[in-house]
Amino acid sequence: MARPENAMEIFRLLDQSNCRECGEKTCLAFAGAVFQGRKNLRACPRLDPETVRRYDGPPEAANRAEQEREAHLKRLQQSISELDLAEAAERTGGRFEKERLTLPVLGKHFSVDRNGRLSAEIHVNPWVAIPYLNYVLYADGQAPGGQWLPFRELKGGKERYPLFEKRCEEAMKQVADTHTDFFDDIVHMFSGKKVPEHYESDISVVLQPFPKVPVMICYWKPEDGLESSLHLFFDACTNGNLDIGSTFSLGAGLAQMFAKLALRHGFSSDGVPLA
Ligand code: SF4
Repeated sequence: MARPENAMEIFRLLDQSNCRECGEKTCLAFAGAVFQGRKNLRACPRLDPETVRRYDGPPEAANRAEQEREAHLKRLQQSISELDLAEAAERTGGRFEKERLTLPVLGKHFSVDRNGRLSAEIHVNPWVAIPYLNYVLYADGQAPGGQWLPFRELKGGKERYPLFEKRCEEAMKQVADTHTDFFDDIVHMFSGKKVPEHYESDISVVLQPFPKVPVMICYWKPEDGLESSLHLFFDACTNGNLDIGSTFSLGAGLAQMFAKLALRHGFSSDGVPLA
């Protein structure tokens, strides 16, 4: 079964008619939903069965993956119901009021109640929901200390790095290469902060997926025949505040969200203006 690297890869498979038969307003929204695991590719009736089989696998496999994700989410919600949310708010850098814990996630407020139900100012993406609950449940609460580590140097990061590099760093680099306002946009839209350049990068931006899990994105422009490059760095406190699987999901989810953002601005990730 082929695994799409980003939402653009899925988008290119579609007939791009925006017919809405899948229940989404546009093919782009559908591609994003498939990449995030909210929809199966087979929900687009205009795709030929061979393409669906190649990317989605047999129907049982797709359903099983979705069921496992749902079951995992339910287990985490059950654990939240046994948690002292007021204590968790203090530990995670959130606030507790009206029986809910609220955390800023990329500048937006995300809350969880005593039953583990999530609510937010914006749509709660699955790639945020599971890391959010893991953070609330298990973060040890250590504050960021300014020591930045690449993903592969986090606990358990080495084995996952090849996939992280592909699905997160490479995917983000493609957007940064072709979308000139990329860094200004993410600073503006996700309450990021430009910081003095690290590791001789041309641009460094810090985002705050969770209060005690800051992420720094460093970008090196192409120069003297050398290709551009982009890497993510995590504060060393991430080791105690978020499991590596959730850290991976955040990185891949961010990359996919940035690709969608770039598309809305009229560019595909390979730099071709869309009609
Ligand atoms: S059904 Fe397929 S072609 Fe129609 S909007 Fe959805 S993804 Fe696009």
